[in-house]
Amino acid sequence: MRCLIIAIVLTLAAPSFEAQVFQTPAQITAQWHWYAQTGDNLISDIRPKFRKVLDPEDEALESSLEYEIIITGNINAFAARGGRTILTAGLLQIIDSMATVMSAAQQYNKPECLGSYIDYIAQATQNNNWLVMHNQQPMAAAMAFGYWQISPATCGGLTEATFRANKKADDLRELMIYFSLVYLIGHEFSHHRHHDNLFKEVSSEQRHLDALRGLDVSREVTPSEQIVKEERADLFAFRKMIEMDYPPLGAMPVLVFFVGFEGYSPEQSPNADHPAAVLRFNDMIDATAHDSEFMELIQKHHMDHEWKQFVAFGKQLQGTR
Ligand SMILES: [Zn+2]
Repeated sequence: MRCLIIAIVLTLAAPSFEAQVFQTPAQITAQWHWYAQTGDNLISDIRPKFRKVLDPEDEALESSLEYEIIITGNINAFAARGGRTILTAGLLQIIDSMATVMSAAQQYNKPECLGSYIDYIAQATQNNNWLVMHNQQPMAAAMAFGYWQISPATCGGLTEATFRANKKADDLRELMIYFSLVYLIGHEFSHHRHHDNLFKEVSSEQRHLDALRGLDVSREVTPSEQIVKEERADLFAFRKMIEMDYPPLGAMPVLVFFVGFEGYSPEQSPNADHPAAVLRFNDMIDATAHDSEFMELIQKHHMDHEWKQFVAFGKQLQGTR
């Protein structure tokens, strides 16, 4: 996820349907600090486990990396230069919210609530991107618990209290948050490993011009080449998840958010620097089907069933719109 997504989503706390109360800026900042702290603890827990499935050279590289969580509502994750991986509190918040809605959809059999939330959050994110680009204030968007209150038609009956009291639902939510972070750590590690972050993204026209001018273009990357780097990072992350005995399906909260953000569209703009999420799923699935080593890895870790679910989910998304 080297994608530069400037999506700003603020939290909306809605204690009752009639009186929606927006959080104050101080409360919002306090919440981002909480996400940063929680994220930091989870990442510190995951990294030593991740190192166990790396070869000695990669293990040394992983140990040298630093993680930084930025206190902002922007949603982003990327491998920066100097061995730093940057995540934002906004990304952790959205992962939490998606994991909550996905877990509830599964445990309470409310797929329509999940679908409407994906649409809602995608719309809110796109609107906010537009507002920010035009120097206007972004609007507040509801996180899972707030959304349930403002959407009785599709999410009726779901409340924060009942969800938290349901241990199975709460555990599934935590697992999905954990697996989403494992995926992110694996994905960004692949960018560090291949020095993807040392490249500057330019259009193919620009690179052509630079070459004509006699400039060094060996560190320039075109959008289509960047997509190859993204796919390599995805595949690496999923491979490592399987080696850790974690089902890639568990990383859905972060993946589905990006699918929703792109409106389920498998079409890709010519200048997209990362594959449209639906394509990303399906390209990855196709790539693994032809990768006998990967399929053997799945069998070795007894994940055939989980992998089939993942494949079915990808196909389902492709046919959604
Ligand atoms: Zn990436």
